[in-house]
Amino acid sequence: MILPVVKYGNPALRKKGARIEMVTPEVQKLVDDMFETMYSARGIGLAAQQIGQALQLAIIDVRGITDRPSRLELNHASADVDAFMPLVLINPEIKPLTEPVAGPEGCLSFPEMYADISRPESVEVRALDRRGEPFHFSCGGLLARAVQHEADHLNGVLFIDRMSKADKEDLKPELEELQAETKAALKKQR
Ligand code: ZN
Repeated sequence: MILPVVKYGNPALRKKGARIEMVTPEVQKLVDDMFETMYSARGIGLAAQQIGQALQLAIIDVRGITDRPSRLELNHASADVDAFMPLVLINPEIKPLTEPVAGPEGCLSFPEMYADISRPESVEVRALDRRGEPFHFSCGGLLARAVQHEADHLNGVLFIDRMSKADKEDLKPELEELQAETKAALKKQR
């Protein structure tokens, strides 16, 4: 089932996700719906907050992005990124491995808005998979960026919080318009 993606201005985006203690059939169904939603929106990542659920759950699929490469390391050996996709991250913990670099980012909750965001180029990740099994990996490039962007969502942090002041100032009219639209739509629903 394709779910509506929550847009900037919806308070759900600012909620810190609760840890998932058990991967129940309901969580599995949510994961399936999130993938359907993300693929239909042509996104490469989606956090539970973006479908209005404050949970430590995010999904990623960087296959198909060829202009921004990703790297993956499993057990200290480089591994095939595509074969590792799609990726489900439950209760993820991220450790930066390198210095921040700037790179372009967008977000399904901010349609048509893009900016360069500075983040560590590679990170180490520990999480539970979709069956609730712990796993870990290191990654770099686009995948590392996507993981960090999604992990931010799980803590109620948005990419506008990490933008340069100048970029945020440039986007200000669009941000205010989107926020007002979202709030008006929420009021109507009530
Ligand atoms: Zn996002």
